[in-house]
Amino acid sequence: MNQEDSKKVKVTYIKGDTPQECFTNGIAKLGGISQFVEKDDIVFLKISLNIPFGFPAISNFDLVKEVILACNKAGAKKIYIGACPTFFFSSQSIDTFMGLKSFFKNLGAEFVYLENNPTMSESINKSSNRKNFSNIKNIEIPDIIFNSDRIIILNQVNVDPLFMCNLSLVNLFSIIPQKYRELNFENENYMDIVNNDKYKSNLINNIIDVNSIIRPDLIINDFFYILEKAGPYIYKDSKLKKTNLMVMGNETYATDVATLMTLGLNIEENDLISALLEQDPYLENLNDIKQIRGNIEDINLKIEPCHSILEDIKIQNILVNSGKICSGCFLKVYHLLNFIKTLMPKDLKYLKECSLLVGANPTEPKNKKNIILFGKCAINTTQNYDFLTLTKMKGFKKKKEKQVQNKAIIKIGGCPPNLKDGLQKIYDFFGKKSLPELNLIYKLLESSDFKKKKDNDKLRGDNLSD
Ligand code: SF4
Repeated sequence: MNQEDSKKVKVTYIKGDTPQECFTNGIAKLGGISQFVEKDDIVFLKISLNIPFGFPAISNFDLVKEVILACNKAGAKKIYIGACPTFFFSSQSIDTFMGLKSFFKNLGAEFVYLENNPTMSESINKSSNRKNFSNIKNIEIPDIIFNSDRIIILNQVNVDPLFMCNLSLVNLFSIIPQKYRELNFENENYMDIVNNDKYKSNLINNIIDVNSIIRPDLIINDFFYILEKAGPYIYKDSKLKKTNLMVMGNETYATDVATLMTLGLNIEENDLISALLEQDPYLENLNDIKQIRGNIEDINLKIEPCHSILEDIKIQNILVNSGKICSGCFLKVYHLLNFIKTLMPKDLKYLKECSLLVGANPTEPKNKKNIILFGKCAINTTQNYDFLTLTKMKGFKKKKEKQVQNKAIIKIGGCPPNLKDGLQKIYDFFGKKSLPELNLIYKLLESSDFKKKKDNDKLRGDNLSD
């Protein structure tokens, strides 16, 4: 960002009685909708839509409607809406669950299956003036993004296990399909990955790469309602907080920094913000952020963050032993535990006690039965552990000891593992009688067009991963 650009950066925070009121007042403070959308513009509205949970795991649709109305009022020729979901989901399967196409059509906008859109390969070196380049040389971006005149991010802010809360920088990253976002270090030295947390540094670089190519015109960080304690999805431990606040701006970094400040979070401790600042030190001089810093001191908002230690996620019948762990396995196990705790409470009652070992050199579990080894580090560094064998008595009167292989071990390989495969292995091991709720979830997914989509992907050679 050069000096000229930075002078134009505008960020504002708004307090109101409803999200719609915050948006309307925010747009007015930023100079009116005509600053962002002009007559006959094609607008792409990127929303939060990772999973088919309701609000506030996804964007507030009352607010989406308000943004669409504002764009229409400004004379937009066409408004596209989309996002590339995560876990097992595609835009198409979420549309099947939630009926988004018809909902948005009634509002005068078109919901697109972004990951089905042809992609354009964009070279990062061409479009970036940053000091450091990541290992991604070409990024596959849906061409509908390049064909749009304006990009608006409507980002639902909740607490997040890696970056404190959902930042718009991360929201924008999910404009590219999941298969291009996925990180896999299967063929690399796992000790090097875990010791240097390469998962997190590569993820940060990739997020910054996408942000250096796509510059949204308007960013709305909505935390009028926010999930704290567990997020960013609606988990059993999540707590809903009403803040009556929103931050809006015309630059992602500035809007995110102002959001972190408003939420009372420490910007210096946010690795993504620090990395971005390191690569473009001029961002620090943005005047509007400094002005906001002065204004928000009386807000005094405190948000309860996500658990940063996996063992602190208390869950019936599952004991977690973490060794040295990187952000990859941390993130996957965080979501796996919260998913099980939230959607499979009955299964947890039937489940026999088990130990989940993750990371390099985890502590040996006391109970040798039902051990889940999660990830390459856990599998490779426990090869001499006692739990791999069981002592059985044999012979007449059973007086002789015999060492036999412990078969009650579930190995979930990968660096990091794929969550869908991991869940499937747990399901195969315990069986549908012990996991009736997971069985029901699978049936629901199969009854939607999810299965059809999976089959289509297989035919195309695509890889549906978590
Ligand atoms: S197996 Fe997991 S903890 Fe180990 S390096 Fe890979 S992602 Fe990190």
